[in-house]
Amino acid sequence: MAPPERIVVLAGGVGASRFLQGLVRVTDPSAVTVVSNTGDDLDFLGLRVSPDIDIVIYALAGAVNPETGWGLAGDTFHVVEALQRYGYERWFNLGDRDLATALHRTRLLREGHPLHAVVADIARAWGVPCRILPMCDERVETRVATSEGELPFQEYMVRRAAEPRVLAIRFAGIEAARPAPGVLEAIAAADAILLAPSNPFVSIGPILAVPGIRDAIAGAAAVRAAVSPIIAGQAVKGPAAAMLAALGHEVSALGVARLYRGLVDVMVIDEADAHLSPAIEALGMRCAAVPTLMTDDAAKAALARATLEAARQARRP
Ligand code: GDP
Ligand code: CA
Repeated sequence: MAPPERIVVLAGGVGASRFLQGLVRVTDPSAVTVVSNTGDDLDFLGLRVSPDIDIVIYALAGAVNPETGWGLAGDTFHVVEALQRYGYERWFNLGDRDLATALHRTRLLREGHPLHAVVADIARAWGVPCRILPMCDERVETRVATSEGELPFQEYMVRRAAEPRVLAIRFAGIEAARPAPGVLEAIAAADAILLAPSNPFVSIGPILAVPGIRDAIAGAAAVRAAVSPIIAGQAVKGPAAAMLAALGHEVSALGVARLYRGLVDVMVIDEADAHLSPAIEALGMRCAAVPTLMTDDAAKAALARATLEAARQARRP
């Protein structure tokens, strides 16, 4: 039997986790390495919270809240509610059982364990069948310059509900960051590198900005495929479309493809955007138009299968 295809997935939160739920059903999960965005991480009540990593772990463990796509199914919010008595504003929704993850992570970090070891421990405890790596061990913070001044990402996204106009995005601390142990090795050994249907600016962007990661992907022997998070000119959820517009890009799968020009061999777009294929292929990449709306388990698996198929066809000789 041929060895399993080694797959690296660059991942944000909700969009990526849905894609990964499909991927593990159509390929050998033990050959999948997820490189996770940590630019969204925040300190909340003195605890380190890694929203994107936790979403991916909970989703792959079958424990994520299916309605929201984040947090744990059936979790309660007694702690954040009880804190209001002491005057705390309840703006970040950290559930009670989710809080246990943050407590554990914070304790291990304070004991001096690097983030990648902490993430491996949490993923193992949840029985996640893939390897989950943070993009780096160092602290990197996505900051959004807006019409209301510069905001840490979660303040922009959650407290301000992504309402302020985006002027620029930067990743504080990125110059000092290094790819977490295992990231460059996984990229070099991969047969396929997949950019999940995640926000290109604040989910995939920070990962590619870690010094060394973009170049490693650009120079990798693996075939590289990206899935558009934009369908028919709109984000399925979240600020991706608003960010494309605000930062001067076309709000479409073509706009996303332009961001990934020179980096990917094939762009997977929604069938509703099939008319964009010639313009995307003119960028020097292939294009596959397939159903990309991940409404249920079957749709998630079908998108993962179609993405792998498009990647195989785009494999360079
Ligand atoms: P976040 O960190 O939780 O915001 O998650 P991601 O960055 O991984 O994913 C957010 C992106 O996922 C948004 O831009 C959505 O448009 C996209 N997305 C969510 N669900 C779907 C879907 O079913 N299909 C596609 N193509 N994109 C999706
Ligand atoms: Ca995120």
